[in-house]
Amino acid sequence: MKSQEIAQRWIDFFVANGHRHVPSASLVSTDPSLLFTVAGMVPFIPYLTAREEPPYPRAVSVQKCIRTGDIDEVGKTVRHGTFFQMAGNFSFGDYFKREAITFAWTLLTTPVSEGGYGLEKDRLWVTVYLDDDEAAALWQEIAGLPVERIQRMGMEDNYWSTGQPGPAGPCSEIYYDRGPEYGQDGGPAVDDTRFIEIWNLVFMQYQRGEGTGKDNFEILGELPKKNIDTGLGLERLAMILQGVENMYETDQVRPVLDKAAELSGKTYTSTEDPADPNHADDVRMRVVADHVRSSLMLISDGVVPSNEGRGYVLRRLMRRAIRAMRLMGVQDMVMPVLLPASRDAMKGVYPQVETDFERISRIAYAEERAFLRTIASGTTRLEEAIGASKSAGTKLSGEDAFTLHDTYGFPIDLTLEIASEAGLSVDEEGFRSLMKEQRERAQKDAKSKKAGHADLTVFNNLHATGDTVFTGYTELATESNV
Ligand code: ATP
Ligand code: MG
Ligand code: MG
Ligand code: MG
Repeated sequence: MKSQEIAQRWIDFFVANGHRHVPSASLVSTDPSLLFTVAGMVPFIPYLTAREEPPYPRAVSVQKCIRTGDIDEVGKTVRHGTFFQMAGNFSFGDYFKREAITFAWTLLTTPVSEGGYGLEKDRLWVTVYLDDDEAAALWQEIAGLPVERIQRMGMEDNYWSTGQPGPAGPCSEIYYDRGPEYGQDGGPAVDDTRFIEIWNLVFMQYQRGEGTGKDNFEILGELPKKNIDTGLGLERLAMILQGVENMYETDQVRPVLDKAAELSGKTYTSTEDPADPNHADDVRMRVVADHVRSSLMLISDGVVPSNEGRGYVLRRLMRRAIRAMRLMGVQDMVMPVLLPASRDAMKGVYPQVETDFERISRIAYAEERAFLRTIASGTTRLEEAIGASKSAGTKLSGEDAFTLHDTYGFPIDLTLEIASEAGLSVDEEGFRSLMKEQRERAQKDAKSKKAGHADLTVFNNLHATGDTVFTGYTELATESNV
């Protein structure tokens, strides 16, 4: 089943069950405290927090999302994209746990010929919050799940709050068992590689009081109007329904991966095993496929490369993709081949990536040309530094590597590679401590900026996992070997 059809079935099912279909909002969040839309619920925050009267009691959406916090997982796990689509159903003071569980179970297990996704019941496991006996009992009753396949999880995984006084409540997540060849038995509590999280149901049930962090706060009582917020990863379901190994091999992503293989002359082998000699290149191709798509979608939603904020995230994503291609031996421009492949894979669902492609590609190609110039001029600067270090008989200093990175935008992995070709090692520790200092400065800045806006922190910690905290500056700045 193609991604487009998975999305359509989702919408059809919930519309048939009384939900209003709300089209995806932009990746650029209208909430000033969030750089990007990080979850399906973001456009509904005013209703979920009862700040505004909801115009409809039930909604369904398939929301474009960007999670920069997941960047280091991309290509290494089977399930994390920087861009992905979160399918969700929402109740604003209308239905609650029983209906949410019934909808989820029905849609997942109804045969494909009858409009569902036809997942095998025996492969589904669920988690509930430690003391949420109500949800556990409902799963037994509605889905007929044996108790062993209903696992209890703590605050970290299965409790949601905004991080501030406001709504809060337990979650229940649905996992798919890929089978014994993917890991050990024992359910998601034991192995999150074999058991893939596909759907999170959030039961906004309580009023949270003051406190700190994710697990140290008071519960003031039940909310007068309880809400449902759910999110299913479209790519994760696609991976299962298309019988492929990971989300990068699904129909909306794979064509870019194939182009990356073609351009580099590498053979993609689908390996998940870090000990496999093909793993490094496989990861690179998956990263390229993911980051090119994220770049396409971000530019399509109006982001342009720059040195701060959203534009910086975009710049880093593009540069990482280009670097990954260079590490596979491709020196020429890659975007003119990769971007059209991503456009063609996405245009069925997002026609604007085609109608607006002239503008999107102009921005992307100009950014790539600029980066290639950066690499060329940084290389000259680096060669001088290498010459000087060699005659002084020292390593290449951390300051040199840092200046190259900071002033010339020259990636550290490239510095390492070129230095090692010249037979020189690099003071990586020195480099890292300078990077750390810089990150700490940036964090301080970000904090002092935030302090000026009373309301901004409210939604900084929307989802149970904390993924929604904007960590783009710091996380994107961590050097990775990709
Ligand atoms: P994980 O534990 O796998 O990182 P999560 O618990 O952070 O996922 P939620 O915040 O619960 O994810 O988001 C709801 C759903 O969105 C998840 O169950 C998953 O299917 C999907 N999802 C979350 N993050 C990603 C991502 N980076 N790429 C693809 N799908 C994602
Ligand atoms: Mg999770
Ligand atoms: Mg989750
Ligand atoms: Mg996560």
